Amino acid sequence: MNSSEDRALYSELTETVGALPAAQQPQWPHRDAVDDATAQLRELPPLVFAGECDLLTTRLAAVARGEAFLLQGGDCAETFAGVSAENVRNKLKTLLQMAIVLTYAASVPVVKVGRLAGQYAKPRSKADEIRDGVTLPAFRGDIVNEFDFTEQARQPDPARMVRAYHASAATLNLARAFVGGGYADLHEVHSWNTDFVRTSPAGQRYERLAGRIDQALAFMKAIEIDSEQLRTVELYSSHEALLLDYEMALTRVDSRSGVPYDVSGHFLWIGERSRQLDGAHVEFASRITNPIGVKVGPTTTPDELMALADKLDPERRPGRLTFVTRMGAGTIRDALPPLIQKAAANGLVATWICDPMHGNTYEAPSGHKTRRFDDVVDEVRGFFEVHRGLGTHPGGLHVELTGDDVTECVGGGDPIAEDGLGSRYETVCDPRLNRTQSLELAFLVAELLEA
Ligand code: PEP
Ligand code: MN
Repeated sequence: MNSSEDRALYSELTETVGALPAAQQPQWPHRDAVDDATAQLRELPPLVFAGECDLLTTRLAAVARGEAFLLQGGDCAETFAGVSAENVRNKLKTLLQMAIVLTYAASVPVVKVGRLAGQYAKPRSKADEIRDGVTLPAFRGDIVNEFDFTEQARQPDPARMVRAYHASAATLNLARAFVGGGYADLHEVHSWNTDFVRTSPAGQRYERLAGRIDQALAFMKAIEIDSEQLRTVELYSSHEALLLDYEMALTRVDSRSGVPYDVSGHFLWIGERSRQLDGAHVEFASRITNPIGVKVGPTTTPDELMALADKLDPERRPGRLTFVTRMGAGTIRDALPPLIQKAAANGLVATWICDPMHGNTYEAPSGHKTRRFDDVVDEVRGFFEVHRGLGTHPGGLHVELTGDDVTECVGGGDPIAEDGLGSRYETVCDPRLNRTQSLELAFLVAELLEA
């Protein structure tokens, strides 16, 4: 049975957030089935704890001050089929490998956040998909419907929200066990990086940097810094808070502080397509205490940015609000400065991170949605240039990646060509950097951080 505080909070959310226009929600066929699923979700235990969310807020405040760097990454869309030890392990391995390189180069702690354990809902540019003259509802992520292009599979099914909860719980449990149980051992993770540098053509360029990290680790060992801390890391979960029926059912009153947290993940963000100031998503995010992000694309005006900050972070709580810029490689150098300048002029200290993926998507002649590795790198470069030029902090990266050797993004040091995309194109939504491209990106960003 939920507590009376939780029941009161849920009614308040359904009355306030529920009354506003909500972009990108599915057309559920039966309201009863939605009520049944949300009733089940409301009885289930939290996936994350308020205290963990607060700790992440303090970490993000350090990012905003330039005293830490954020690495956020994972699939565009997680799938139920992807909840396997191998898949989760490979993704974590890649994130941890990237984090070591970035930590060394930035000389500050790297805050690690997975697009993981909850990233099951997707916004779509069109509500329907047409293939060979057949029109069906678009795939909106495993939390809503199935990817297969059949009438039955594409029917939104509210019971999938409960499956998404359990898939998130299993993923988070595994992730917590990996990082707490020795898998994140610094020496081990570094040895994977040395393998990458030694054995792959893409890695060879980074031999010197990897060698310097070797030396640093050897030095630490020599002076007997070999504490338990080197064997574990702090890892946080995050996803887009898109499907409001799900997120509201998992919002609870924290018994310590009496304030609401969305306990479906540590960090929640609002997407580019659902950040309307008078819309349901912004209202929902304004009512939870977790650290939150907002995607800001090239059409965002400085006034809009400030209005978002006023609505989402009126108290200017350090670490509360992260702007995830996704401008496109060709646009970032022009579009980002006015936003940063406006924030600075208003005394707003936000955390700025770069999503170099979503502004750089295009369709290859084969019909695959893809991104050029060079564009991704160029957007990151632009992000650093702009911040350095204005004296503000380039806080981190938000990337779509996998630990597997997929062929979804074009280019890289072990290059994937447009006509090779079909060989291992496995994403159910946007193209991800594969393992090699992700590690390369980390080494390239390390060079930028050291510059
Ligand atoms: C995403 O992060 O997968 C996404 C859809 O991004 P955006 O909201 O920036 O388009
Ligand atoms: Mn995406």
